Amino acid sequence: MRRIVPTPDNYQAIYEEIAGLPAGTSIEIEKILERMLKDSPPASPEVSKAADLLRNALEEKDGEKAEAAISLFFGIQEGNTLAWGTLIRDFLKAWETKSSGWTTARKREGLDTVLKKFGSNPDALYQKLQSLFKSWSSNTEAQTGLVDDMAEKIAAPTGKDGDMAGKLRELLAQSYSAGFTSILQHSPELEQEARLLSEKAKEALDAKSLAALASKLKHFWFNLEIRAGDNAEMQEGLLRLLRLVVDNIGEVVVDDQYLKGQIDIVRDVISGSPKRSILDDAERSLKAVIYKQSTLKQSINDAKSSLKLLIANFIERLGEFSTSTGEYHNKIDTYSQKLSQSDDIAQITAILDEVLTVTKAIQLDTLRSRDSVIEAQERVNAANQRIIELESELENLSELVREDQLTRTLNRRGMEEAFEREVSRSERRGTPLCIAVIDIDDFKKLNDTLGHQAGDDALVHLSRTIKETTRPNDVVARFGGEEFIVILPDAELDDAVQTITRLQRELTRQLFMYNNQKQVITFSAGVALKQPHESRDTLIGRADKAMYEAKRAGKNRVFAAPNDQKPS
Ligand code: GH3
Ligand code: MG
Ligand code: MG
Repeated sequence: MRRIVPTPDNYQAIYEEIAGLPAGTSIEIEKILERMLKDSPPASPEVSKAADLLRNALEEKDGEKAEAAISLFFGIQEGNTLAWGTLIRDFLKAWETKSSGWTTARKREGLDTVLKKFGSNPDALYQKLQSLFKSWSSNTEAQTGLVDDMAEKIAAPTGKDGDMAGKLRELLAQSYSAGFTSILQHSPELEQEARLLSEKAKEALDAKSLAALASKLKHFWFNLEIRAGDNAEMQEGLLRLLRLVVDNIGEVVVDDQYLKGQIDIVRDVISGSPKRSILDDAERSLKAVIYKQSTLKQSINDAKSSLKLLIANFIERLGEFSTSTGEYHNKIDTYSQKLSQSDDIAQITAILDEVLTVTKAIQLDTLRSRDSVIEAQERVNAANQRIIELESELENLSELVREDQLTRTLNRRGMEEAFEREVSRSERRGTPLCIAVIDIDDFKKLNDTLGHQAGDDALVHLSRTIKETTRPNDVVARFGGEEFIVILPDAELDDAVQTITRLQRELTRQLFMYNNQKQVITFSAGVALKQPHESRDTLIGRADKAMYEAKRAGKNRVFAAPNDQKPS
């Protein structure tokens, strides 16, 4: 709007107006730089070069050149900044490195002093720390300092006459108090002796005390020599011990390439007479080995405990499995005990081997016993089957022996047994015993007209009718063909005749049906009362004769045998 020409100065003025700044307050960077370059003392060649470049650039008003010069300048300055990182590294090294005369306590004291005095000034702090660490790592400097100190003392004008002897006494005293004590910090008695000698040296003013001091000094040197020898021996001994340890670890870690490498380094280091720095390297290597070893040990322990657990479970299962086999049970108990007591991987492995062997044996035995059990089971089954068969056969046989299969009445043999039983019972009780012989009438004719099967059915029909008609104690037997014998215990002759007659009537009433045709079956019977001491055959003979009489009399009748016959 003001139509102002767009020059840098005009822009500047408008900027100041809008920003509310008083006119002409802009920082004139060029002038500042020029002033700086003019005032700064000639520094390093690089800084001077950068300054020249910048000066030229400013004169020529060349922005690019100026920029390059400034970045060069700052680059140099940056390179000159204090290297704290390096300092800290130096510090750590100096702190860890043991140097005679500098105990950790002394180092800490020195560090405290420097930090207190120069803590607020980084440049000074940096320099002081640097020289402090240097003094730690080389005791030559300390010694130099000491020597300087002594030299000063000697050179300084002393008391009355520049007493040379006094200065030497002082020198001797200092060498014992400062020189020896620092290197004898590990043998307190000798350190104490050195301090005492330092005091004595100050007091050695006459020949006598000087002689006493001399003898004491000799004694001290002697002890010092022994001490040095001890130290050397001790060092040698420790080295031997270390070599032994390293060799042994080397044997153990044969399979682990990483550990083997570390161990080899340590072995190399301690094979000759080692230097300080090399010893530090060895220490680092050993630390790495120890760390790796501890992790390995942990994993071995883990593996071992899980292996133990595994085997314990396995043994437990095995124990359950072989409860029935007492022998294995005992063995398994032993393994369980061994396992709980062992902590050695080799032992555990050995136990596992034994367990596996036993297991295999059990497996075999189990297979064998399973086979034999199956075999035995099969044999038992077969035997059982056979027994059942034999039993039923025997049953059948005994039935066959005693019974007639067709009519289910006793057969001849059954009748004979029953007869003996009933005879002895009747004799015991004094009761009568009758028998009846029954023969079907014209049975041949029935067979011939209706067939053999009809004859069989007629026999079954008769048997059933006899059983139903007689008393439960009466015994019915098929004597052969179509003849039956009925044993009638506890029956007089008349009772027996009546019973058989009743049977006769019953048989005509209970019709025998064949092919839906009514069949009439009749029989003829002879009844006999057993006489005392009469044999079975005689008795049957008499009944049979009576039956034969009935036949002859026209069949379908019951005849009693007369009792007057003599026993045969
Ligand atoms: P009788 O009245 O004189 O006794 O005449 P019978 O025909 O019965 O004559 P006998 O006693 O001599 O004949 C018996 C016949 O009975 C002979 C045989 O054919 C028949 N028989 C014998 N046992 C059996 C049998 O178990 N089943 C059949 N179906 N017939 C039999
Ligand atoms: Mg007959
Ligand atoms: Mg007959």
